[in-house]
Amino acid sequence: MNYIDKLKLELGESKVSDAEEHRAAFARDESGIPELYLPDVVVHPESTEDVSKVAKIAYDYGIPITPRGAGTSLSGGPLAVNGGILVVFDRMTSIKDIDTENLVVTTEPGVITQTLQKEVEKVGMFYPPDPASLDQCTIGGNVATDAGGPRALKYGVTKHYLLELEVVLPNGEVMRVGKKTKKWVAGYDLPMLFSQSEGTLGFITEISLRLIPLPEYVQTFLVPFDDEVAASKVVSEIIARKFLPRALEFIDKSSIDAAGDEMPPNIPSDARAILLVELDGREDAVMVEAEQIAEIFEKHNAMDIIASMDDKDREKIWTARRDLLHALEATGKKVRIEDITVPRSRIPEAVEAVYRIQDEVGLTLAVFGHAGDGNIHVNILHDEDQIELVDKVVHRLCEVAVELDGTITGEHGIGILKKPHLHLEQPQPLIDLQKNIKNVFDPKGIMNPGKKLP
Ligand SMILES: Cc1cc2nc3c(=O)[nH]c(=O)nc-3n(C[C@H](O)[C@H](O)[C@H](O)COP(=O)(O)OP(=O)(O)OC[C@H]3O[C@@H](n4cnc5c(N)ncnc54)[C@H](O)[C@@H]3O)c2cc1C
Repeated sequence: MNYIDKLKLELGESKVSDAEEHRAAFARDESGIPELYLPDVVVHPESTEDVSKVAKIAYDYGIPITPRGAGTSLSGGPLAVNGGILVVFDRMTSIKDIDTENLVVTTEPGVITQTLQKEVEKVGMFYPPDPASLDQCTIGGNVATDAGGPRALKYGVTKHYLLELEVVLPNGEVMRVGKKTKKWVAGYDLPMLFSQSEGTLGFITEISLRLIPLPEYVQTFLVPFDDEVAASKVVSEIIARKFLPRALEFIDKSSIDAAGDEMPPNIPSDARAILLVELDGREDAVMVEAEQIAEIFEKHNAMDIIASMDDKDREKIWTARRDLLHALEATGKKVRIEDITVPRSRIPEAVEAVYRIQDEVGLTLAVFGHAGDGNIHVNILHDEDQIELVDKVVHRLCEVAVELDGTITGEHGIGILKKPHLHLEQPQPLIDLQKNIKNVFDPKGIMNPGKKLP
């Protein structure tokens, strides 16, 4: 029997499709990679047992298997580059338990991040990691990429909330790694290994995450500047003076222009950059901190300090920020988004280098991102016939990141797009060590092959 018939027999036809139209719906992610990667078959498991059955069949037949959450990857991670079986987690969407005594949520991997956040907030709890794709991406995808977001500055990224995982190994074996307790040091930290593994070690089928109490008060400011580098210096100074906003985002002129009417109307038309700054905590403490940070804005000649008036106002600002990538795409240009990260004191150097490259190559590089983390997204606007030039810009940006003691990717992962650049950051023996680790989990090389390691 061929493996697709075996999948249909063991899982039931309603969970398995090899219809071309269905497979085509999963041939892309959000990376803008022009090639279509059609899986040979798409499986929608409804339980860990289903995932284990799929892995066992793939293992026996030696077929590639690729996990997929919502497909919002910006690096090609969930694409079935070698065909085979694509496992989509869109039917494993239940939040199994919110434990308010121990501050732990346990969930299936297909739950949308924003849904999980809203559910825990109903009982006064807070799950901070907030990738800008939070209304689409899944918690499973977030763990597999160690997603960050604006609030990472104060609250950390997905891995800082990871307690226990249930995983299905590429041979179908089911294991639990980690513990739901606040502390544990027995054995190696395998949840951390699965974090940012980009689906190359196994399937994540259940996730337990640490929660914290919901902050009492939040205040958001938009601060326009007439100079990009001045704005980036404010970011470095806020960090150096030991303030800890929960978000500190940089948005440049090209991005402001692309956002158009989505941006609040009171942004001066000659602003060349905006900082989006959000503070949280006890109301009185937030007020004091806001006054002190305002002194830094004024010292660097901020054009204005625009405070959000209420939750609705704040949500409007964040919607505009989260839509920036799509706003740039709506300009009619193709967009390749890069996410280099540098030490925060070196952000002004990174921003200057980006604009130098822009002048050299003659493509528009729109910059926004989680500047408070040193993580800037450089969006390369281009036409379809300029891919070679785009690849050169990407390589140059990766070099800049490494020259400034940073990293070639702060959150979007290696996937397939960044593989050619990993050697800039990591020596061959380190890459070989990681290949050996993968080999232990996946001796047949069937688990999301062609990703992460060159
Ligand atoms: C508009 C936009 C804004 C974004 N903003 C951010 C941001 O602020 N911060 C950030 O970090 N990222 C951001 N991203 C990138 C992306 O949303 C994240 O990487 C996200 O974590 C991917 O989740 P997903 O469910 O879409 O996973 P997918 O894209 O489907 O998959 C991502 C990777 O995880 C693997 N995977 C998925 N589910 C599982 C599973 N259950 N078990 C094992 N492996 C699995 C896949 O194989 C793949 O390698 C953004 C993307 C877009 C389009």
